[in-house]
Amino acid sequence: MRVKLGIRIGLGGLGLVFSEFKAGSVAVVELVIGDISCVEADVIVNAANSSLLGGLGVDGAIHSRGGSEILEQCKKLRATVWPDGLPTGCAAITSAGNLKAKYVIHTVGPIWRGGLQGEAELLKMAYWNSLKLAASHAIKTVAFPSISTGAYGYPVKEASCVALKTIKKFFEKETSIEKVYMVLFSEQNFNIYLDAAKQFF
Ligand code: ADP
Repeated sequence: MRVKLGIRIGLGGLGLVFSEFKAGSVAVVELVIGDISCVEADVIVNAANSSLLGGLGVDGAIHSRGGSEILEQCKKLRATVWPDGLPTGCAAITSAGNLKAKYVIHTVGPIWRGGLQGEAELLKMAYWNSLKLAASHAIKTVAFPSISTGAYGYPVKEASCVALKTIKKFFEKETSIEKVYMVLFSEQNFNIYLDAAKQFF
């Protein structure tokens, strides 16, 4: 069910087109256009790569705005829990450095290889495991980028369906999470997610 569509001033001082959808009794999904590294949410999810040592796109923005604390913690994760790197579909948490968030959850989406290599299941796992990890830290708000749709080449339309269906399913169970922001980097991607949201909510 669509709740609102409008322009919001906030979330890091940007004027953002947004659209809100209800998902469960308290939970709301809000689609916004913006830079995820500027968003004020308890958790910002990073579209990381397996190395956890930084990259371009979302990863680059989060590390450059968040500062060295995030990278230091990622290096510790590599030295301890994930010596071979974070597997695709898994999620790991660090503090958020200078970002306006409590935590960054790093997850690795699949590289698009035509759609028959389990990409949809892996993308679903990336969203699901990030939400599960956020909920285990008693988090109320989570901001996601459109995982895998940049350097990893996942078509945005297909990815939007996986992302929103997974978030909706997650909200079918009891959770501390009250709001999920889907932060889209362009109006074009926002409109693709909007079409999918109208279908699923
Ligand atoms: P992946 O490697 O998982 O594809 P990318 O970071 O390359 O991750 O891109 C994922 C999506 O995030 C793409 O749609 C891209 O346009 C978008 N994006 C890139 N930078 C930002 C940012 N700073 N904030 C929000 N979205 C971003």
